[in-house]
Amino acid sequence: MSVLVYIESWEGKFKKNSFEAAQYAAKTAAAIGTEAIGVTLGDLQDDASVIGKYGVKKVISVKGSEFKSFDNYKVAEALKSVAEQQGSDTIIISGTWNGKAVAPVLAVAMDAGLITNAVEVPSSTSPLTVKRSVFSSKGLVEYSTETPKRIIAFIPNSIGVSEGESQAEVAEGSVSIGDVPAMEVTETDRVKGKILLPEAERVVSGGRGMKGPDNWGMLEELADVLDAATACSKPVSDMGWRPHTEHVGQTGIAINPNLYVAVGISGAIQHLAGVSSSKTIVVINNDAEAPFFKAADYGVVGDAFEVVPKLTEALRNFKENN
Ligand SMILES: Cc1cc2nc3c(=O)[nH]c(=O)nc-3n(C[C@H](O)[C@H](O)[C@H](O)COP(=O)(O)OP(=O)(O)OC[C@H]3O[C@@H](n4cnc5c(N)ncnc54)[C@H](O)[C@@H]3O)c2cc1C
Repeated sequence: MSVLVYIESWEGKFKKNSFEAAQYAAKTAAAIGTEAIGVTLGDLQDDASVIGKYGVKKVISVKGSEFKSFDNYKVAEALKSVAEQQGSDTIIISGTWNGKAVAPVLAVAMDAGLITNAVEVPSSTSPLTVKRSVFSSKGLVEYSTETPKRIIAFIPNSIGVSEGESQAEVAEGSVSIGDVPAMEVTETDRVKGKILLPEAERVVSGGRGMKGPDNWGMLEELADVLDAATACSKPVSDMGWRPHTEHVGQTGIAINPNLYVAVGISGAIQHLAGVSSSKTIVVINNDAEAPFFKAADYGVVGDAFEVVPKLTEALRNFKENN
């Protein structure tokens, strides 16, 4: 019984998280002693054989305009259909916004056990046991499932990616999509910014200490030099200083970047809930007692308006000379 992995794409291009999903699936398949099979949905510009670099030897490419806009019911039906055709009992999904919307629908459709928020590849395959994050990243628990079919949705950026040389064999597939709730996209509001927050490896985030929306230019410059996405605390997006798509935390996006730079953010528990899994946290705050310092790997006690431009300048010089 093979391991199937959903290779997400958007407008014909693979999402970065999909490469990690492929690697997660390849490692899981190797532990089980079976093969990993990728599934792409919709018309692609990218070459699906590149998925082989991440350890998946076979990709089923299902074309069709019905996948042009994301519809979790259609995606779940398509994955179920391919899983039946390929005899797959384990499905791997990256826990992106879309992945989180697909996983539970697919679990119901396949009558499968679902483990979400996984942070590692399975530690055991009999029964399938996976470490997952719980209570807004405050704890880690090992979950097992003994259901014949099982789905793992892992937190993006949990295992990282490394590239090999192989190419995957690509086969065209077709699926049957049964009766699903009808969904119509009436308007698309695009997220602006060069790097999408959920996929970012580095994030520069601002809080109320930035004083107003006009001061974000300096955070954007810092983000630019770090190749980072920008984010913000909840009050900042509530006040309309920044778009809601940048709000991180318990009620916003939960992110897991390699670097999180928090500027003028106090570090309230609801904010930390969405960012504390970041691999390295840097806090810049003028109050040495700010709670965020307790969660920081590196802290600068100082005025953001002095520290941030100097940091940007130093990083720019470093990049130019290295
Ligand atoms: C149910 C619920 C859910 C919530 N969900 C979220 C969530 O998802 N995300 C979230 O962020 N919040 C959330 N909150 C709000 C949260 O409790 C905090 O109120 C919020 O995170 C505070 O935002 P802040 O740190 O930007 O502002 P503040 O708490 O006002 O902190 C501003 C910080 O900036 C510092 N500062 C001021 N001037 C400067 C300067 N010149 N240089 C450097 N530092 C400076 C200050 O010392 C202070 O630490 C939630 C609250 C509730 C009740």
